Amino acid sequence: MDSKTIEQNKLIAEFMDIPKCDRCEEYCGRYKFGTGIYFEPSEMEYHALWNWLMPVLAKINAYQNDTWQRDIIVNGTIATLITLDIEKCYSAVINFINWYNKQ
Ligand SMILES: [Zn+2]
Repeated sequence: MDSKTIEQNKLIAEFMDIPKCDRCEEYCGRYKFGTGIYFEPSEMEYHALWNWLMPVLAKINAYQNDTWQRDIIVNGTIATLITLDIEKCYSAVINFINWYNKQ
């Protein structure tokens, strides 16, 4: 996995409020996805698997439904979230989160 994808997966984990690993004295860089389930950003599959990306799309969709007037600010995100091309969806998710984090 390239470093850009690793950074983007980390960005998504933060957006999804995935808690950081709490098992290590010195933070190991992993995130806690469930009881005993820890992933580093390089092990996350947001960019490749729908079962990872769908909850992210659901969170963005809920946000945009609540604040529909802001839809147009995030170029094409709404439209791209309903395509079945995971690369396009992933890219739209990253665009959205970069925008969201500046609000
Ligand atoms: Zn750890």
